[in-house]
Amino acid sequence: MNVLTRAASLAIALCLPLGFQAAQSATVVDGKALSDQAQGKNWLAYGRNFYEQRYSPLTQINTDSVKRLGLAWNMPLPHDRSLLGTPLVVDGVMYFSGSWSVTRAVEARTGKLLWEYDPKSIEHAGDRLRISWDSNRGLAYWKGTVVICTIDGRLIALDARTGKVRWSTQTTDPSKAVYISGHPKAFRGLVLIGNGGTEFGASRGYVSAYHITSGKLAWRWYVVPGNPADGFEDPSQEMAAKTWTGEWWKFGGGGNVWNGITYDPEFNQILLGTGNGSPWNRKVRSPGGGDNLFLCSIVALDADTGKYKWHYQTVPGETWDYNSSMDIVLADLDIEGKKVKAALHAPKNGFFYVLDRSNGKLLKADKFAKVNWATGVDLKTGRPIEVQGARYEDGEEVIWPGPLGAHNWHAMSYSPRTGWVYIPKQELPAKFNDTEVRMIDWRSPYFGMDTAVDMGLGGDVPTGIASSSLIAWDPIQQKQMWEVAQPEFWNAGTMVTAGDVVFQGGISGEFAAYHAKTGEKLWSVNVGSGISAPPITYEIDGRQYVSLLVGFGGAGVSLAGGTALSRYGWSYRAQVRQLYTFALDARNPMPKVGDPVVPKPIVPPDFRVNPELAAKGEALWKNACVICHGAGAVSGGYAPDLRASPIFASPDALKSVVVGGLKVPNGMPRYTDMTDADLNALQHYVRQQAAVVTTTKPGTSEPAPPDRAGVR
Ligand code: CA
Repeated sequence: MNVLTRAASLAIALCLPLGFQAAQSATVVDGKALSDQAQGKNWLAYGRNFYEQRYSPLTQINTDSVKRLGLAWNMPLPHDRSLLGTPLVVDGVMYFSGSWSVTRAVEARTGKLLWEYDPKSIEHAGDRLRISWDSNRGLAYWKGTVVICTIDGRLIALDARTGKVRWSTQTTDPSKAVYISGHPKAFRGLVLIGNGGTEFGASRGYVSAYHITSGKLAWRWYVVPGNPADGFEDPSQEMAAKTWTGEWWKFGGGGNVWNGITYDPEFNQILLGTGNGSPWNRKVRSPGGGDNLFLCSIVALDADTGKYKWHYQTVPGETWDYNSSMDIVLADLDIEGKKVKAALHAPKNGFFYVLDRSNGKLLKADKFAKVNWATGVDLKTGRPIEVQGARYEDGEEVIWPGPLGAHNWHAMSYSPRTGWVYIPKQELPAKFNDTEVRMIDWRSPYFGMDTAVDMGLGGDVPTGIASSSLIAWDPIQQKQMWEVAQPEFWNAGTMVTAGDVVFQGGISGEFAAYHAKTGEKLWSVNVGSGISAPPITYEIDGRQYVSLLVGFGGAGVSLAGGTALSRYGWSYRAQVRQLYTFALDARNPMPKVGDPVVPKPIVPPDFRVNPELAAKGEALWKNACVICHGAGAVSGGYAPDLRASPIFASPDALKSVVVGGLKVPNGMPRYTDMTDADLNALQHYVRQQAAVVTTTKPGTSEPAPPDRAGVR
């Protein structure tokens, strides 16, 4: 027992008034605290507590008072880039993980830095650095230990008071290009983590639970079966193998658990939201068909042993990069007079699911967005009713939703007061085409991305093709209760409070509060840069605060990006990232973070694009560069827009960055296998793209044909 807790216990035992310092260490963050929905002082876990509702019982900031919100403090984060994370607050101390999982503890009332820990993710990844996303969605807290994870696959336990490392463990195979961008989940003295990486090489998804005190592995569960010749890890793998055909293990199979993990205290079970297939195209990975368990499912595991309990598969035979990796919210619902312990889930595929989580039985499934791959879900069999041709067997198909999903990892929230779910919804199709099915050619385990599908639209997203909104969804009636239109797509996650206020930030840089019952906008502030993270709320000394990390990022920005997002001007390093904290009647001025900068593509008048070279460059781009610099060579702001970069004027400078690794400290990987001819081809592609202006045909969602005349 440390000095502070001893002082606190003594004070409690003697009924002495608690001093501020003693009160600060009062909360033991364990299963009891994480099950307590009534306390509003702390934000103890990713979704606030075990229930993942992102609902706070605090009411000081409410539908009447919210207009008095102002800036209490801000913390500039000049070295950070994309900030997607949910901070935690324990007894007045805020913990958050920033870019490259640099983790900080700050005084939640003032923003004063208490400690900072840098896991040196780029250095640790070394030449394994390929998926150079700096994104990280959060951390876990358990009894004085903070647990973080890194892009290079480590799980690291820190002393919450000092930031000193208690243990560190590699959770992934370092020879694979898998990564962690998600958050760990703490429960019953264990911490659970999965990983991402299905797009970047043969990958077999699994989750691992470690003891928080020692860092020792407690259990591991695989999402998809391996090669049957090697034997199965457990009976669930044998069961799953019956739903696969061909030699799927050569492609890994996928199913990686990269986001949605919920601990359900009432059934002592873990609910996993599993990922898409590796590669996306089922024809390649499982040529004889099959449901391909446990891709794209909610899987319940015994929390102590990791043993399979039940599953519900949202997309049998996944082939569109749909996954069920979105958050899984626990709620008590009254459905037709029956009390149900429900799990609520709105995955990419556009259906909203209500499951009885005691047994995994499907209770409801209805479209909450535009969906054309299925007409509905048969509640008797639990299976979607697929539309003929949706699997693009007969040529190109435009499928709604596309791979970015009708709802992605941006968290939804649930208010027990309204009984509604607040979902950041998006509508964005993709063209799928496999008339010439390419077999996977992962030239080296680290080289790049291949999905075995020819894609359109889902990549370089033209302005106006996507739409999005914040919706209030009644999970019992399966009905949209209100909708607020949002710009483009990739708007941030939500939070709702007992003051009946829903908070959400968006790509326009607006952070806003809405009436939970009507959707009326009650308050907003312009934070000067695109928002990708969800807010949190907490209370210190009787005052309620709302905090938000601001740093545009995630796959929608880095991979898709496109003209739709680039026009906002959240260019690479153009605005200083921030942690903002708001409170009623706080009056600090908003900081100047930097003006919007829309890149101006460089088109040298004397450069003639060779179409053959440009085509070769495009293939290289799609394999290696697209992940950060954006589809169509249009950066969403995650990395420099290379159409506007002077680097292509100097082959030596280009080589020193791409092959020589000059920008490795910034997260730009070294591609030692790129030849001078490759670099030349890339130059022709980027120059070609610099001269293309993609716009939307007036009054339609059709992209206009490329116009080579103009430069934006
Ligand atoms: Ca995916």
